[in-house]
Amino acid sequence: MRDRILDTLANEGILLEPSAADMVLTRDDPLNFVRSALSRMQQQPLVVTVDDLRPFVAAPVVRTVAPAMEEVRSGPPAPPPRDDGDVKILRDITGNSTCEGNIIDFARYFNDRFRKIKKILAGRRELVGCLPVSKATKFDRDVRMVAMVNEVRTTKNGHKLMEVEDEEGRCPVLILKDSPLANESIVPDEVVGIVGKTSTKGDLVVLNELIRPDLPLRKGMQPTDSWASVAFMSDVHVGSNTFLHKPWERMIHWLRTEGKDEVQYLLVPGDVVDGIGIFPGQEEELEIDDIFAQYESLAEHLKEIPDDIRIIVQPGNHDAVRPAEPQPTFPKEIFKLFDSSMTLVGNPCTVEIEGRRILFYHGRSLDDWIGSVQGLSYNNPLEAMKEMLKRRHMAPIYGGRTPLAPEKEDFLVIDEVPDIFVTGHVHGAGIGEYRGVKMICASTWQAQTPFQRMHNFNPDPAKLPITHLGTGETRMMDFA
Ligand code: FE
Ligand code: ZN
Repeated sequence: MRDRILDTLANEGILLEPSAADMVLTRDDPLNFVRSALSRMQQQPLVVTVDDLRPFVAAPVVRTVAPAMEEVRSGPPAPPPRDDGDVKILRDITGNSTCEGNIIDFARYFNDRFRKIKKILAGRRELVGCLPVSKATKFDRDVRMVAMVNEVRTTKNGHKLMEVEDEEGRCPVLILKDSPLANESIVPDEVVGIVGKTSTKGDLVVLNELIRPDLPLRKGMQPTDSWASVAFMSDVHVGSNTFLHKPWERMIHWLRTEGKDEVQYLLVPGDVVDGIGIFPGQEEELEIDDIFAQYESLAEHLKEIPDDIRIIVQPGNHDAVRPAEPQPTFPKEIFKLFDSSMTLVGNPCTVEIEGRRILFYHGRSLDDWIGSVQGLSYNNPLEAMKEMLKRRHMAPIYGGRTPLAPEKEDFLVIDEVPDIFVTGHVHGAGIGEYRGVKMICASTWQAQTPFQRMHNFNPDPAKLPITHLGTGETRMMDFA
């Protein structure tokens, strides 16, 4: 029944996240529940989430603050940022979204991902002479191919069986339980190179080598003559009653005194306000319970930062923009609240500052990485960032906690290698390096919330990582 209901909805252009589908299927009349909920939403989401449906579950619905968020979310995004001087926006969905109407084309989206990553893999020696899946499995016992992973499961004999596909065909690939690859974490929808042999029966491929696109081996940032530094300040969460006023004041004081000549740029990778209705019971944890007032307060807080520091802000999952990634920048109503000197961009975004390429991504998908890859945890987000770089994709898993918008182009592929890769979201702080790419996890300005305590999660707040653009040296300031 599940499939039939979901197919019917899909035919009407209605797509549900798996958890939303679960919720819908518990209703007496799932189809009408979804249809009537959607008809009452101000704007139809691309992919319906549990959060979208929650207001329609209990009646009467208490709507004190929620409509404000809906209104804000439905507004048109601010104009795409312009390049100027030493800051160039190289890649940003803002103004480039093809997903605003009802055209939902997942095949096109996944094909773009496949082609982009295949291009990277094509340069690998191990994959020279690789063939499309349908041909590779027919013509030779030695198989080399590039494919996207559909699913991986464990067989009753303890082997792993994955199904892979490319634009033309699909095939099963077996990973034997005593193979060194048996413990490899392979996530759904990642694109990999496969080297193997067809089985004697010819019905499947036995995996010998798994090739990841990965980063080329290179040294870190080569020195330039830039004297500037950039600071990274994630997850400010203005509006939360756990916003850290005192450490914030210490940080501002430092920027106005000792740090005055040091920091020229400030990057803010999302969750700039706490938002409204983001998780159940959030209203108990808010200091400001109006979404506009939260952004107004943020604008005031950012005004305390010295004028000559160039500020670039992107949204995260708590912000009032569409939740599906890539997220275009803030709507006009919010844009208006800020100084015109500020640059608002989308999520993710690649900027070039004084010749350095910086990829910054709020990091919602860290939840999916940590939930899917063995050995990863919230205590070490840098390890999860490394997995993104190895797979050259920030959020491959479709249907997890990260909602993905099926844009014509996959903006979450890491096709160009950045000098610096920054995330936030997990409220941790860290500096690392992988194959010459500086990795930074940019802390938070929110103390542990009751929600986090309940989930046994300890943040590492009030840290400010700062990178010198000339030398690449990075240090962590602590205002806790
Ligand atoms: Fe956050
Ligand atoms: Zn977040």
